[in-house]
Amino acid sequence: MPKVVVISVAGAFRKGKSFLLNFFLEYLYNLHKSQQSDSSLEWLTDDCQLHGFHWRAGVKRDTVGIWLWGEPIMIESVTGEMFAVLLMDTQGTFDNNSTYQQCMTVFALSTIVSSVQVYNVVDNIQEDALQHLSLFVEYGRMAMEQPHNFGKPFQQLVFCVRDFKNQEEYEFGENGGTDFLENVLQTNPEQPEEIKVVRELLREYFEDIQCYLLPHPGYKVAERQSFRGHVKDLRPLFREELKKMVPNLLGPHNLKPKIVNGKTVTCRKMMQYFKEYAASFDG
Ligand code: GDP
Ligand code: MG
Repeated sequence: MPKVVVISVAGAFRKGKSFLLNFFLEYLYNLHKSQQSDSSLEWLTDDCQLHGFHWRAGVKRDTVGIWLWGEPIMIESVTGEMFAVLLMDTQGTFDNNSTYQQCMTVFALSTIVSSVQVYNVVDNIQEDALQHLSLFVEYGRMAMEQPHNFGKPFQQLVFCVRDFKNQEEYEFGENGGTDFLENVLQTNPEQPEEIKVVRELLREYFEDIQCYLLPHPGYKVAERQSFRGHVKDLRPLFREELKKMVPNLLGPHNLKPKIVNGKTVTCRKMMQYFKEYAASFDG
């Protein structure tokens, strides 16, 4: 039975989460195809049109709660093992229709069940975004039955900063992101206690924390209604950065199976686990 990998994207409403997931889908399906036919991997080509998770302009919410892509995508890892990759889209946190409790539940549940939680933010990692994040993961940790005798409760946290502007100081992509994150998460004795606590908690709860800085995707994407998924309409710089970032997260060298209580799980087990947790958050 293949091991399961669960990739979740969470964060505020209308900040391009579903849009990002379509790149994940495009990459994974093309990777799957190239592995099956033993051909070279091509993706995000000039003529390609993105589709998949619905994305759209405007302010009406259209992703409610937690949304799984309809099927797992089978990827062979570099060690020759088969992984079933599940993609998870979540309801925007802090949109006008959800209560704080709902946001917290969606975020906590998606963090518990994922091997990678992508926290999508725009422009910067603000202090309030870190505070919400730490509250949500603390809530999630408390909901987990087992105390953590199996190491850290969560696996990978990836900050994805959209429309990053300060590229004079930090370059786009993973390198700039790593420096930027180090700066954001650093602690020192002069800081107020609450600032330190949030940072220590994140480091204590996640095995690994990464950060990617992405450029603005171009006016055709950001302008209402005009983007139809055509890759040639993306700003070239944005496309280049995604071509590096997505394989870094989802490539055969980098996929990490979901670990529950110290063990890998199958897809079926994962769905069962998911339902149990969803029920435990109900009411
Ligand atoms: P979600 O609510 O976070 O899932 O956001 P969507 O993926 O539905 O995207 C909301 C809007 O933002 C759409 O019109 C997208 O075309 C646009 N968008 C997507 N990615 C970006 C980005 O990186 N920067 C900007 N400025 N707009 C984006
Ligand atoms: Mg969405």
